[in-house]
Amino acid sequence: MHPTNLQTTDKRELVITWSDQSEATIPFRILRDRCQCAGCNEKRVNPPEKPVGLPILSAAEAQPLMIEKMHPVGNYAYNIHFSDGHSAGIYTFEMLKNIGNACRP
Ligand SMILES: [Zn+2]
Repeated sequence: MHPTNLQTTDKRELVITWSDQSEATIPFRILRDRCQCAGCNEKRVNPPEKPVGLPILSAAEAQPLMIEKMHPVGNYAYNIHFSDGHSAGIYTFEMLKNIGNACRP
């Protein structure tokens, strides 16, 4: 199975149409949180210590999260560039399918 169409909505969601005609709607934030790159996995294992006092967001983090670009990787995955500057994530079709299923209402 592979995506036949990708669209983004103004509610910051990615809509994937699959080759079996099914559709999945995935909020950008969930995609970003599911990133499996080495850096994100490391943060999950060793979360940075919470700063004392008010959290300070960088300018990029304070903006609503957007997808800036999606590049196909071979014929099995997409590399997604997020507006917070993170672009290391590789999302296989299988992962996208699983995340999409988990996002079903
Ligand atoms: Zn990552």
